[in-house]
Amino acid sequence: MQKIIFATGNAGKMKEIRAILSDLRLQGSPAEILSMKEAGINADIEENGRSFVENAVIKAKAAADASGEPGLIVLADDSGLEIDFLNKEPGIYSARYLGEHTSYHEKNGNLLDRLKGVPQQERTARFVCAIACVLPDGHLLTELATVEGFIGYEEKGENGFGYDPIFIVPAYGRTTAELTEEEKNEISHRGKALRAMKEQLEQYYEK
Ligand code: IMP
Repeated sequence: MQKIIFATGNAGKMKEIRAILSDLRLQGSPAEILSMKEAGINADIEENGRSFVENAVIKAKAAADASGEPGLIVLADDSGLEIDFLNKEPGIYSARYLGEHTSYHEKNGNLLDRLKGVPQQERTARFVCAIACVLPDGHLLTELATVEGFIGYEEKGENGFGYDPIFIVPAYGRTTAELTEEEKNEISHRGKALRAMKEQLEQYYEK
């Protein structure tokens, strides 16, 4: 079975990724999807790119190099939240915003404070997700997708992770933390980017 490594240590992301790629078929066979940890890959990756795509490529290449195993498909994503009123902060620094070990309750509270008094039409924001894929032959595939929404006035919902409790999806009038996993995967930046990547992979392996 073709092994696919997803270069992330984030359990929330891994759960979404497994759900979305569960029906991936490469040359008619299902693939085995493993996190870096499950694959025994240890890599301290420095995300020093200037865009989501650059960072996703850096992560995928570093994980592929660190695996020391030819024949793997290695995927990585880089994602984050862009708030227009804050000049697209936290952007590519979303995970590191206020420090990597600061709780999301604090990060969300801080962003809500910075938007105090800002009317709804100026609270527009988007989640962005870039996916990069290194194939066994060294070929590189990339995808970029977004989901548009706005920042609420308080944290709401228990599902998802990270900035989900403050990000409202207009079509649902709820935060992504109030959506079920299936609802979120259908509209999310990561869902869209992964489905597009899945198609690219299936096409590549059909050749
Ligand atoms: P990355 O692991 O470097 O891609 O960091 C992405 C960070 O962006 C996460 O740690 C979250 O803070 C935020 N983020 C990305 N996608 C989502 C999402 O779907 N919901 C909530 N926060 C997200």
